[in-house]
Amino acid sequence: MKHIFVTGGVVSSLGKGLTSAAIGMILERRGLKVSMQKLDPYINVDPGTMSPYQHGEVYVLDDGAETDLDLGHYERYTQARLNRFSNYTTGKIYSEVIARERRGDYLGSTVQVIPHITDAIKDAIRNGVAPGTDVAITEVGGTVGDIESLPFIEAIRQFALDLPVGDVMFVHLTLLPYLRASGEMKTKPTQQSVGKLREIGIQPDVLICRTELPMTDDMARKISLFCNVRREAVIEERDVEFSIYEVPTMLVKAGLDRIIARRLGLPVEVETDLSDWNRMIEDLRHTTDTCEIAVVGKYTALHDEGCDGLLIPGGFGERGVEGKIKAIQHARETGLPFFGICLGMQCATIEFARNVLHLEGANTQELDPHSPHPVIHLMPDQANVHEKGGTMRLGACDCDLVPGSLAHRLYGADAIRERHRHRFEYNNDYRARFEAAGFATSGVNPQRDLVEIVELRNHPFFIGVQFHPEFKSKPLHPHPVFDGFVAAALAHARGAHREGKPERSRA
Ligand code: GLN
Repeated sequence: MKHIFVTGGVVSSLGKGLTSAAIGMILERRGLKVSMQKLDPYINVDPGTMSPYQHGEVYVLDDGAETDLDLGHYERYTQARLNRFSNYTTGKIYSEVIARERRGDYLGSTVQVIPHITDAIKDAIRNGVAPGTDVAITEVGGTVGDIESLPFIEAIRQFALDLPVGDVMFVHLTLLPYLRASGEMKTKPTQQSVGKLREIGIQPDVLICRTELPMTDDMARKISLFCNVRREAVIEERDVEFSIYEVPTMLVKAGLDRIIARRLGLPVEVETDLSDWNRMIEDLRHTTDTCEIAVVGKYTALHDEGCDGLLIPGGFGERGVEGKIKAIQHARETGLPFFGICLGMQCATIEFARNVLHLEGANTQELDPHSPHPVIHLMPDQANVHEKGGTMRLGACDCDLVPGSLAHRLYGADAIRERHRHRFEYNNDYRARFEAAGFATSGVNPQRDLVEIVELRNHPFFIGVQFHPEFKSKPLHPHPVFDGFVAAALAHARGAHREGKPERSRA
């Protein structure tokens, strides 16, 4: 088994996660089995308690692990099976080491960063490898040179030392900034960041240079010379014009697939087959069918906007909820396609309760703990939970679909599994009243009789799901509810508000 470690330098937000995912995809398209893993140098045990503004959206796995959003790239680009061992943070590593220390596992010794923390990081890397893996790709979050990253960088250096030469390679992602005033691109930040890596003892095998403009051969040679990386392994990754999905193809064109194969002693005379992926991009590029989807995060004057579909995503807290409810009312009354995810589904339930069932003051207990009609409420098992980290309903849960419902037609299945991340639930005390008025339940969790999907009977497309279907949508396998929603929005855009069998979207 081989290992690739991906580090980043100069600045954050270079697209290291995307590049790592693209490397995974390229290797899979050469017939190899890959594992993907991310090491994050922050102290939170997981990103579950962080605001999306801090670190992007939280990505939830089947096993309920709340992980970094880069794991979403891994799942969309590769077949790698991810679980709670696929994302480690400094906080998770330290809490394991401290727990062991309290148990007495290190009795007699002083517990230190080297070797105890670095050993725990090396164990974490091994834990992240699924059985049967050919190549394990581990992305180290943060930027080389940060104080926080140091134990991780040191650990991957040691990791390589423990294995035969040729089993481990290091890929470093860097930036070639363009200075408008002098009209030139600069290699110095790259040299310095590679210098930082080499100080610790890591010589990168490949440099992937993020650039706005083409990297000239002269520049590549200069980088090669100063960074001690072979010319052919200095690879340009230019800003993509059209879609981030172009990155794998771009890296293959630059020869990265063969460089990795050669460096790790993998079969070289294999073609990297990205044909279906490239076809998908060409389809996207040439599609002429367009529709406008309003995504309501806070109050939007929907009436003036002219859109073909309304999407209300998940969320926490009060901001914008009343505006979302108004937007949903508009969609319900005018036949505008509507798709509510988690909080979006909960808002649709509140809207129907207030405006159709005339349950005055209907609300979710999250926003009004004393609501006379808590149509969305806290389950007894959640009511006594006071810790905030990792205590929601998390991960994949079963859902049985009601035959003949929109959900059933979209999925084309009787039972599904979808990923959850929420505390509050649809209140079954009101279910009969909702059903009688046409606000149907079309998906139920069989173990706990929890309502997972709601839909409106007399509406072209109106669906709310308690789970997060976005976690399972992939470019080559779009999620059926998204697919159906886009198809309904396209039909709306064409002025055809028909009921009946949902079309498949091409957009
Ligand atoms: N805040 C809501 C809850 O906790 C919805 C969560 C979400 O949209 N992910 O139930």
